[in-house]
This record gives sequence, C-alpha cells and structure tokens, in this order.
Amino acid sequence: MIFVLAVAAAVLSKRYLGAKEHTRTIYGCFDTICTITTYSSSDKTEEYENLLRDAELKFSAYNPQSEIYRLNSDLYAELSPDTVSLLCDAVTYSNLLSDYFDITLNPVCLLWQEAEKNSVLPLNIDSALSLKGTENVYIDIDSNYAKILKEGASITLGAIAKGYVTDRIVQKMRANGETSALINLGGNIYAYGLKNNSSAWQIGIRDPKSDENSSAAIVEASNISIVTSGAYQRGFELDGKWYHHIIDPKTGYPAENGIISATAVGSKSELCDILSTAMYVAGVENAFRLAEEYGIDAIIITDNTIYYSKGLEGKIKPSGNNYNFVLYQAVQ
Ligand code: ADP
Ligand code: MG
Repeated sequence: MIFVLAVAAAVLSKRYLGAKEHTRTIYGCFDTICTITTYSSSDKTEEYENLLRDAELKFSAYNPQSEIYRLNSDLYAELSPDTVSLLCDAVTYSNLLSDYFDITLNPVCLLWQEAEKNSVLPLNIDSALSLKGTENVYIDIDSNYAKILKEGASITLGAIAKGYVTDRIVQKMRANGETSALINLGGNIYAYGLKNNSSAWQIGIRDPKSDENSSAAIVEASNISIVTSGAYQRGFELDGKWYHHIIDPKTGYPAENGIISATAVGSKSELCDILSTAMYVAGVENAFRLAEEYGIDAIIITDNTIYYSKGLEGKIKPSGNNYNFVLYQAVQ
C-alpha cells in the first residue's frame, strides 16, 4: 500500500513538476472581460483565446462581421458547422423552454437597447414581440446555411453562446492534457480539475446587492460549470427604475418575479447558460422545477434569501449574513 502510494505520488509530482500559473485576460469578446487561467508547464492560453475570438466572429448579433449578424441583416447566411450546431441547439431549447428562453426575442432586445441609448421607454413592444417564433428561422444542416423567413425577425445567441464556447475550450483543454484551469467569461465559469492541481476551486457567487467583488455564497467546484444570470449585469435606470437585459418572452419586458440572480451548476456550460437565463425568467418555484427536469443544480437569490438545490449540500456556504440561506424543497 505504501509502495503504491509512493509510486502514485512520484507520478503525480512528475506530472505537475514545473507547473506554473498562466493567466490571460481577453477584451472585446461577448461584450465582457474574459479570463482564462491554467496551471501547467507550458502556456497554451493563446489557443483558448483564439477559440473565443473565433466564436465572437461567428455568433455575435452585434458584430457586423459575424455570421449571425449577417443572417439577421441579409435574412440569409452561409454558416460554419459550429454555428449550425449552436443554432440548432438554440432553436431546440427555444422550443422546449419558450415561456422563458427564446433566441427569437432579438427584436425586443434591440428595442430595449434603443431605450437605453435614448433614455426613453419603448412604445412598440407588442409589434416586436409579434416577430418572435422559431418557425421564422430555417436551418439547412446539410448545406450549412440558414434563412430568416419573416421580415423584421432576428435572433440573438447572447444567452447561450458563452456556454457553447466554454464547452469548446474545455474540450480543447482535455485534448491538450491540461490538468488545472479556470475559465471565466464574465460570470460564465468552468472550474477544470483542481486549483493549482491541489484542491477544489472555490467559486464566489456574486452578491447581487453589493459591488462586483462581494460574494453572497461560495461553491466548491471541480470539473463543473457555474453560470449566473443577474439583473445587475446589464441594464439602465430610468425614472428611478432599473431595466435589465433578461427579457420575459411572455411580456417583452425585463423579467420581474422576485429573483435577482439565478445560477446553474452542471457539467455542460451551454446547458447551464441556457438554464441560468430560463430560471431567471421562470421565478423561484419553476426555476427549481427546471433544474430538476434538466439534471442541474441551482442557486437562486431573491431580495432576502439564497435558495440552493440538494446536490449542492455540503458544497455551498454563505459568505456573510445578508441573506437567509435555505435548501430548497419543493412544496408538494
Ligand atoms: P449574460 O449575457 O449577461 O451572461 P444571459 O446569459 O442571461 O446573461 O443572456 C442575456 C442575453 O440574452 C441578453 O443580453 C439578450 O441578448 C438575450 N436574451 C434576453 N432575454 C432572453 C431570453 N428570455 N431568452 C433568450 N435570450 C435572451
Ligand atoms: Mg444565459
């Protein structure tokens, strides 16, 4: 036994010998600041940055060079296989979760961006809402192109693309033999292996009522994605009211149901990205129902309470006394 342990220790120490921290901060992707850290003997973070930049050029609804931008503006675009694959997923989940998550909400999202620019509330939300519907998007998987079938309709992958690219980076890290890394795309996190190859990552869930360096809870994480959608992330104030960027597909207005941040914890970052947005819109009870249905864990913060799902028991702890801290149990 001692011999086996000694051999294991020798193998491990050889593997991690010379491992150094490499951190790369990336600006100009997905409208956020991204950081990628690895602990390894060689620095491969440039490869991961390239994946991010490539994804921005394919998926952004706001970058005039991107495939999705061209699809929205020309109603037709040839797409790379990556974009076809993400778009198919995005449409599938928009159909499954249509009350909460819908990529065809883009005309409504654009109205709210206009409103922010002009400091005037949008007037024509109903007409923008009438352009919603995945039946307005045609994807040709065999020939790699897509069409928008209704004038004025458009899509945004803003609530799913960061998760998708996170999964691609994780895949690349595995292929590269990385053992320890943290991917943080503006709150869309993947904790890979153990921190510095030694102990689980401690991921702070931001306190939505405090500044960006304060956390409301800490989650112990290894080989898992943690994605948060919060009202505080993007938005604007008008006449004393905060209008944020997560839209309720049923009303066309920013979702308002008592949730101030929704976090999805699971092995696939794309699914976590979709569900963090969907849970935010769904309200506390439906959020936990969705988490169970899709096999992820959830942390939902309301004005005074942090609720967490059973799978996080023993892995999550509060930081501070700002909230009640409650294991969510469904009311039967
Ligand atoms: P963030 O982009 O801040 O990480 P989300 O993942 O929740 O937050 O995505 C929000 C973005 O997705 C918005 O900026 C908008 O482009 C788009 N969006 C807003 N509401 C929805 C919705 N209900 N379903 C799908 N996409 C949405
Ligand atoms: Mg999302």
